Amino acid sequence: MSAELVCFNRSCRARFPITEVTYNCPLCGRLLEAAYPGLALDSESLKATWRSRRTCNQPLDQSGVWRYREIIPFLENYDSVVTLREGNTPLLPANGAAEYGGLDHITFKHQGFNPTGSFKDNGMTCGVAQARRLGMKRVACVSTGNTSASMAAYASAAGLEPLIFIPHGNISYGKLAQALEYGARTFQVEANFDQILALVRQLAERLGIYLLNSINPFRIEGQKTIMVEMLDQRDWVSPDWVVLPGGNLGNTSAFGKGLRELKQLGFIRNVPRLAVIQAEGSAPFYELYRDSERGKLKSVPHPETLATAIKIGDPVSWPKALHEVMESNGVVEKVTEQEIADAKAVIGKCGIGCEPASAATLAGTRKLTATGVMRRDADVVAVLTGNLLKDPDYIYRYHTGQLEAPGGRMIEANFGNRPVVVPNDAERIASLLSSSF
Ligand SMILES: *Cc1c(COP(=O)(O)O)cnc(C)c1O
Repeated sequence: MSAELVCFNRSCRARFPITEVTYNCPLCGRLLEAAYPGLALDSESLKATWRSRRTCNQPLDQSGVWRYREIIPFLENYDSVVTLREGNTPLLPANGAAEYGGLDHITFKHQGFNPTGSFKDNGMTCGVAQARRLGMKRVACVSTGNTSASMAAYASAAGLEPLIFIPHGNISYGKLAQALEYGARTFQVEANFDQILALVRQLAERLGIYLLNSINPFRIEGQKTIMVEMLDQRDWVSPDWVVLPGGNLGNTSAFGKGLRELKQLGFIRNVPRLAVIQAEGSAPFYELYRDSERGKLKSVPHPETLATAIKIGDPVSWPKALHEVMESNGVVEKVTEQEIADAKAVIGKCGIGCEPASAATLAGTRKLTATGVMRRDADVVAVLTGNLLKDPDYIYRYHTGQLEAPGGRMIEANFGNRPVVVPNDAERIASLLSSSF
């Protein structure tokens, strides 16, 4: 078996050894992807092997990523792998959410059940394994979000030094708190995101630091397994749709690549349609999809949304993501801050819960059924990308009518659930409880 890095640009297709440390094609500048020329798998016997690994106590088999290692064969051996038992996330049906979304049924693939609370763990176990395989001692990313939380955990668990670079004065506490606790050295740089990225690239080259930003092709390989696990859990019956939020679009690229490969290798008969949902104030991919030419993405200079995980104006993976959306006959939709907030509360009330970016999936589904793009009886899997507790401040503000959208408009607490102040008086509380809620 051979694994290599290939330029994603169809008119370049330059090839590099799998151990080459490059993030963009040195010839044309586009992104690289892992490729496995000549890969052929016995799908029927592997389905049985993968299923039986679920009951095995070996760390590699307990991981919801490495259990499927035959479909991500970029390592020569597994000595460099560190697993925190990522993946293994449930498929949860939710009637209340289905009704709200205009569907008979919906199932959530909840990636918030991951060790650090987001799907970034599926990719990070692979990125860190590659870093160790290359003999790197330090890894870095520019992020205040789930990427930094995940990278910090995996790097520290693997004995590498995690370095996080963030713009000064632009901090989100929930996720940064994880990174600090997991032991990442964190630098607040007095510069904007793009300047910091350029700086870190320079440092990476000079000091031999391995970059684990979302351009890293090995993270994409790990995220492919979210779709593999989902199909394993559904006995290899594809849904009609897979709905996911779109930010930097790494996940869209990963899901599309994974599903295409599963079809080529004979694991599934058809590829589900991808529905990518963006937040209205941060929707360059939606605009690109709507444009009949679909030429080049126009970045949004000042992206705005309270769903910070998808607050990205210049998504690096857009060429890959566009390819995957078109290949799957998919769609891109956008939703408002109010729609995200309400959908999130509906998901919460199903006893499930998620972070704001994840709730864009249900908000988008509601729109797609209303416009007839998605049928009421469609078989839909929506991917909840992050855990409810990532953003508690947002939740409290929503339920108490204090959540302000960018630009200053207040979000209506349409599904608000305010705490009630009561006296220390059983009679009064009993009478409150007998009145309607
Ligand atoms: C990273 C992230 C996203 C966006 O994923 P992309 O691959 O950047 O499109 C969405 N939701 C959550 C919770 C995330 O952490």
